[in-house]
Amino acid sequence: MLVIGSGPGGQKAAIAAAKLGRRVAVVDRPDMLGGVSLHTGTIPSKTLREAVLYLTGLTQRDLYGQSYRLKDDITVADLTARTRHVVAREVDVVRSQLARNHVSVHSGTARFADPHTIALSEPSGRERRLSAGHVVIATGTRPARPDSVEFDGRTIMDSDNVLSLERVPRSMVIVGAGVIGMEYASMFAALGSRVTVVEKRAAMLDLCDVEIVESLKYHLRDLAVTFRFGETVAAVERHPRGTLTVLESGKKIPADTVMYSAGRQGLTDELDLHSAGLAADARGRITVDAHYRTEVPHIYAVGDVIGFPALAATSMEQGRAAAYHACGEPAGRMHQLQPIGIYTIPEISFVGRTEDRLTEDRVPFEVGVARYRELARGQIIGDSHGMLKLLVSPVDRTLLGVHCFGSGATELIHIGQSVMGCGGTVDYLVDAVFNYPTLAESYKVAALDATNRLRQVDRLD
Ligand SMILES: Cc1cc2nc3c(=O)[nH]c(=O)nc-3n(C[C@H](O)[C@H](O)[C@H](O)COP(=O)(O)OP(=O)(O)OC[C@H]3O[C@@H](n4cnc5c(N)ncnc54)[C@H](O)[C@@H]3O)c2cc1C
Repeated sequence: MLVIGSGPGGQKAAIAAAKLGRRVAVVDRPDMLGGVSLHTGTIPSKTLREAVLYLTGLTQRDLYGQSYRLKDDITVADLTARTRHVVAREVDVVRSQLARNHVSVHSGTARFADPHTIALSEPSGRERRLSAGHVVIATGTRPARPDSVEFDGRTIMDSDNVLSLERVPRSMVIVGAGVIGMEYASMFAALGSRVTVVEKRAAMLDLCDVEIVESLKYHLRDLAVTFRFGETVAAVERHPRGTLTVLESGKKIPADTVMYSAGRQGLTDELDLHSAGLAADARGRITVDAHYRTEVPHIYAVGDVIGFPALAATSMEQGRAAAYHACGEPAGRMHQLQPIGIYTIPEISFVGRTEDRLTEDRVPFEVGVARYRELARGQIIGDSHGMLKLLVSPVDRTLLGVHCFGSGATELIHIGQSVMGCGGTVDYLVDAVFNYPTLAESYKVAALDATNRLRQVDRLD
């Protein structure tokens, strides 16, 4: 098996096929082992977030006062020290996992020479051919850059350039209020940059619970973030003393830097897909079937290059599933119940449907809420705004959705996911004993809240 791209999807495909006894090779561009996930995406951004939280002392201010911070004048060097350390360690982990499984790794840019053969342009300039019975395309994406904007990677940049900023900007415009845009808006706002978010649509993060998005907006406004919803950028000008973002409505926003976070483009343009009998859509994405097979049955595609949900978490699972299918190994279908984690400050995570979605689907539900400020652990860690919300079916008492906001949300959600995945009911959570004092206890508190409400309805019915 030949795997193009060593991000989460490619890695897991390679290792799964190797474990099933196949000879496997992975190719990736020089210095990109581990993929976008490891070099410009998930890992550096989440490490940066951790560094921001630690150095700014933001999460400790409820306890030690609003002026508390670990370090005044946080520099880019302070932030990137941690990122560089983690990325280097993780590259080692990926390299050693591939080596342990006897997966050979080749450096260069790949393109199809024919449906079974890859031509690899190596860093030395040599071209090498590799052939295989199965090919997995896991080439991921790059940030989409509108043609009308002149990016210089320093003052007008995309999310890849954020990691090489020379200094923490005093002010920043972020174009696009998607997940990546809002994660970086949170980090820079926490660092003290004056952030303005410009978004074409009237709202943001519309896949999430409305109440939680409102709470996030409230928190970010508190950190001096300005939102400009329903606004389109007409031009971005670069001046000697900064940038000027001009909106179609006529508003002008001066800032040190502008970051575009306006979607991503599949990395398929260099692949010569037509030589393999394949084509990509206008956004560079490849179409696959339920087994991640492209129209050419021995070629699979996984990860961001196939589009939604475009997460490291799902890419890994897709890679494994594709390898199993290629090797004729029975595999369970990826569970429909996929959690979403958004590392804004505070973080958001959910699994299942939202209140709006359930209402749209005409599914009745009852709500149970636990607020961190009512939990001993919430008080201990100084998180007074966090919350957990359970949406419960009054018909069979199963969980229809779990929504979490605040410290540990992306970890806590997996309790709800497990209960939902195993068909458990709210009564399981009412009867369960949770470690005390924990944030996990919020499940019990929210479950009691939901069952009390259900009881009130039952009494009147
Ligand atoms: C800023 C940011 C934050 C993110 N945060 C999260 C998060 O918190 N959680 C989460 O789950 N996901 C997150 N993601 C998404 C996550 O990074 C992606 O879903 C994941 O990286 C996709 O994995 P992949 O397997 O498709 O490959 P990628 O990680 O995209 O890697 C693809 C690899 O293919 C290589 N490649 C491309 N073309 C060729 C070629 N022609 N020849 C050789 N090699 C080639 C590239 O060099 C690259 O190394 C984030 C993304 C970004 C940008």
